[in-house]
Amino acid sequence: MNSFGLTSNNEVVERLGGRRVVVVGAGIVGLMSALEIQRAGVEVVIVDAGSPGGRQAASYGNAGWASNAAVMPISVPGLWRRVPSYIFDKSGPFTIRWSYLPRLLPWLLRLLWAGRNWEQVEACARVRFELCRSASADHVRISAEAGVAHLVQRRGLLLVCRDRSEILSTQHERGIRRQLGIESRELSPSELRRREPNLSSEYRFGFLNEDGCHISDLGAYCEAIADLILRRGGRIVRARATGFETVRGEVAKVLTDGGAIGCTHAVVAAGIGSKRLAAIAGDYVSLESERGYHVVFSHPGNILYGPIMPIDGKMAITPTLDGFRIAGQVELASEKALPDWRRADILAQFASRLFREPVQPGIEVDRWMGHRPSTPDGLPCIGPASACGKLYYAFGHGHSGVAHAPATGKLVADLVLGRKPDFDISPLSIQRFKLFQSRSCRFRKSPQTQSQEEV
Ligand SMILES: Cc1cc2nc3c(=O)[nH]c(=O)nc-3n(C[C@H](O)[C@H](O)[C@H](O)COP(=O)(O)OP(=O)(O)OC[C@H]3O[C@@H](n4cnc5c(N)ncnc54)[C@H](O)[C@@H]3O)c2cc1C
Repeated sequence: MNSFGLTSNNEVVERLGGRRVVVVGAGIVGLMSALEIQRAGVEVVIVDAGSPGGRQAASYGNAGWASNAAVMPISVPGLWRRVPSYIFDKSGPFTIRWSYLPRLLPWLLRLLWAGRNWEQVEACARVRFELCRSASADHVRISAEAGVAHLVQRRGLLLVCRDRSEILSTQHERGIRRQLGIESRELSPSELRRREPNLSSEYRFGFLNEDGCHISDLGAYCEAIADLILRRGGRIVRARATGFETVRGEVAKVLTDGGAIGCTHAVVAAGIGSKRLAAIAGDYVSLESERGYHVVFSHPGNILYGPIMPIDGKMAITPTLDGFRIAGQVELASEKALPDWRRADILAQFASRLFREPVQPGIEVDRWMGHRPSTPDGLPCIGPASACGKLYYAFGHGHSGVAHAPATGKLVADLVLGRKPDFDISPLSIQRFKLFQSRSCRFRKSPQTQSQEEV
């Protein structure tokens, strides 16, 4: 056992009878799924190549925002008109590595197609709302359950702008949110000043979603949930999942580089790594990494009361326990490409202009790059695998995995336990990508005689 209570990777994990669910991935989505499955009294084993919520996971370094307003996909009508300016603005929030463009093109075209009209976007927002309507309350509850209530603060999420027209220009988005009952309250310049006295006086207008919460240390939050799962009898295996073995068309083992793990059900919640595992199970998914960056500053005072997003920077600034984290940037590049730390420089430079004189951002203490696992249509894949019984998917949450994770966990538990989900999840099916599929199944079929009780 190491400090997380992880089972060492060459330990054989036998199934002793009853139901056992192997969850691949210990990011926020895998952890929430395991927690909800375990709540129903079912044995869970989590498999991850790294530590729960470790630096390899998107769940480690994101902005940590969650609210009922995480309903908008990134693709909206008119996006294509803004793409060239994003690409040619070297200090902007969006960039593409040109060498990757040929491979990325099908995903990009599907992205633009998904946002071709507002009816399409509205339909997508309605599904996403089901995934985030209770996000804040869920995180508050789960953090208390895991003994880390101090990591989740419900202080609302604040958009700030220099010119009121910047927010008013997003009238369609605001209309969709209003229809769903998602409120945001406009703050006058003086209210904004009282709430965030250190913020540069150039930001005069604020729009506050009071439902929102923020998580000040994502890595610690994930570790605490993993600990809770361990305390309740779950197990965590440090290994890389490499495939599945089936008996009579149903998953019977998850294969890993440390041995096979017997199971009755399995869940793929491996973030960007899910594409490979889904392909092994016979499903194609259009999933790309929208790489993002963060820079963390430590600061002796309470420099920010709550999280803010300056609309001009398109980045999120979140208070941490001893400073703040500035997170953002979308870099479309191969998952394997080395980080381009100039993207983090953009964030750090922004931080230096964010506060009023003479307030300084503090000392830079961390830089990080991670992979948003993004589908082009703004919806995750949650549901059964097409060709392998009792194997389920829970990945592709893009920009909103923190907000959508608690509801995803409940849905995954419903699927595994055979309960009817609260809403129609057919738009989340991986089968929507079937049209583009060209590969065949690669999972290993066991001889019919092989017992599932074996390792
Ligand atoms: C800069 C930035 C800011 C963001 N801000 C927000 C925000 O404010 N709010 C929000 O809701 N979302 C935000 N996001 C998005 C959010 O971080 C992701 O959607 C979410 O973390 C995805 O969680 P996950 O569990 O699916 O994947 P991950 O957190 O990436 O976890 C996947 C895990 O699977 C493991 N794995 C992969 N392959 C294998 C394998 N074969 N075998 C074993 N283990 C494997 C990995 O080691 C990893 O631990 C942001 C993302 C970025 C990059």
